[in-house]
Amino acid sequence: MRPLWKIPQDEPVGAPFEPGARHDVIVVGAGITGLSTAVMLTRAGLDVAVIDAGAVAELATGGNTGKLSLLQGQRLAVIRRHHPASLVRAYVDANREGMDWLTGFADTAGVPYTRHADHSYAQTADGLDTVRAQHDAAREAGLPTRILSSREVEESPFPNAGAVVLDDQVAIDPVRVTRALAGELLTSGGTLHTGIRVTGVHALPEARVETADGPLFAPHIVLATGTPITDRGLYFTKTHGQRSYCVSFRVPGDAIEGTFLSVDGPTRSIRPVSEADGPGRTAQLIVGGNGHPVGRSESEAAAVDDLVSWTRRWFPDAEETHRWSAQDYESHNLIPFVGAMPRGLGRIRFATGYAKWGLSNAPAAALRLTAEILSTPRRERPRWMTTIGTRLTVPADLGRGAVEGGKVAAALASGWTEAESRAVPVPRPEEGAGVVANRAGRPVGVSTVDGVTRAVSAVCTHLGGVLDWNDAECTWDCPLHASRFAPDGTRLEGPALRDLRPLPRDGRPD
Ligand SMILES: Cc1cc2nc3c(=O)[nH]c(=O)nc-3n(C[C@H](O)[C@H](O)[C@H](O)COP(=O)(O)OP(=O)(O)OC[C@H]3O[C@@H](n4cnc5c(N)ncnc54)[C@H](O)[C@@H]3O)c2cc1C
Repeated sequence: MRPLWKIPQDEPVGAPFEPGARHDVIVVGAGITGLSTAVMLTRAGLDVAVIDAGAVAELATGGNTGKLSLLQGQRLAVIRRHHPASLVRAYVDANREGMDWLTGFADTAGVPYTRHADHSYAQTADGLDTVRAQHDAAREAGLPTRILSSREVEESPFPNAGAVVLDDQVAIDPVRVTRALAGELLTSGGTLHTGIRVTGVHALPEARVETADGPLFAPHIVLATGTPITDRGLYFTKTHGQRSYCVSFRVPGDAIEGTFLSVDGPTRSIRPVSEADGPGRTAQLIVGGNGHPVGRSESEAAAVDDLVSWTRRWFPDAEETHRWSAQDYESHNLIPFVGAMPRGLGRIRFATGYAKWGLSNAPAAALRLTAEILSTPRRERPRWMTTIGTRLTVPADLGRGAVEGGKVAAALASGWTEAESRAVPVPRPEEGAGVVANRAGRPVGVSTVDGVTRAVSAVCTHLGGVLDWNDAECTWDCPLHASRFAPDGTRLEGPALRDLRPLPRDGRPD
């Protein structure tokens, strides 16, 4: 599966890796967080190196829907349910500053974007209370939201029982803008290394990252890796990874007007795409949704097929052009975690937990990371930074963490039990399929992809979860903390740092 946005042209090219090189700041991760942080620091005169295991915008940044909105579905109502109004306002202010920074960058870099009314809508009357709560929370936070008129509701081409609307929000090509950030980094003398995985991060004796090709040194390290790739601070227990899906379509006639996110399930996220988003676009509509915790789905492929069926029902002539999936992390605290890593001696910083709103939350996180690294006096920082930075953990945050902890424990137990029920050798899985079986008491994953059958240890190298086959992406996904691996065991993303162990093809003991 490949996102609409990932056209091969104009992919930024990294520099050859020089083991032992020293910089002012090393940023791990060339997504929207890493590159906006790197550009801000480079503009302040620092020597910044960005290093990524894949390409620029390899993961969530390259696989998102490209909506830049302060409305954000039912996010504000959800935060308001558990936190004071001042924190919701600080969250909105942070996102506004993040959004303004990114659109300002897009203006100077010549990256096109379009303005739309963004809608948080109810698919049935049952969702209308949430629409109202979102309207109230948004208004309280200073956003000029309005309720959709009954005429506009009636004109909707898909089921829409009512919506709260925020005008003048943005739709942008997330890959184009991130590649443009990489372009500015390079032209202002920064360094970019792609295809180099960081395998360790250390604060002592001096701050450094380890890679298979050697170390890099800098007094400041920023982990912009989606979820932090170190267990310091145990952030993998304070967030959970949600995988979700997008499909783009060619649609005859006028594109829909506005961007939409349902507040009731199953989630539907809808946005138009046009030539104004960038020339040569083959699609006019993106429909996303059907998210679920990573590695906890009966069939990821069915989740995508369901989006296609829904679209064909309401846009009968829609022709599919691309389908893709990605994952993002949600903080149990509902507000992103940004700042210095515990036990990192102020040398290691990170940002995570945007809950699928990274296009504005990431530049906001970058502003905060930059202020910290440059030691900007607190009185000169915007008020939202202090409000968010000093927020308290409330009982509901702990409750959400405990519920998720229970699910992780259940997934761990059921994975091992299921693995025990089937012994190797197993029949060769059909194309695109993978099964977990028991090899002398250890789970082994056997899969067939592109005609090649492979076996790997099906135990996650992070904390020992038994992996689950993702039949949409053909990957091994961990139901515990969202690490993912290719069929040959190569680590793709998540808190795991090491690959899975390859085994003989039929999974038998050597
Ligand atoms: C389906 C979907 C739709 C979304 N739609 C929207 C939307 O419309 N609007 C919005 O605002 N947000 C949206 N989001 C959220 C948004 O995409 C993310 O919040 C954002 O992209 C996160 O950016 P990031 O840079 O922090 O992480 P990522 O983009 O995931 O980047 C992390 C980078 O770190 C690299 N990396 C990881 N580990 C290592 C390692 N060990 N060594 C070296 N490099 C490493 C990866 O290769 C990757 O490039 C969506 C998310 C999903 C999943």
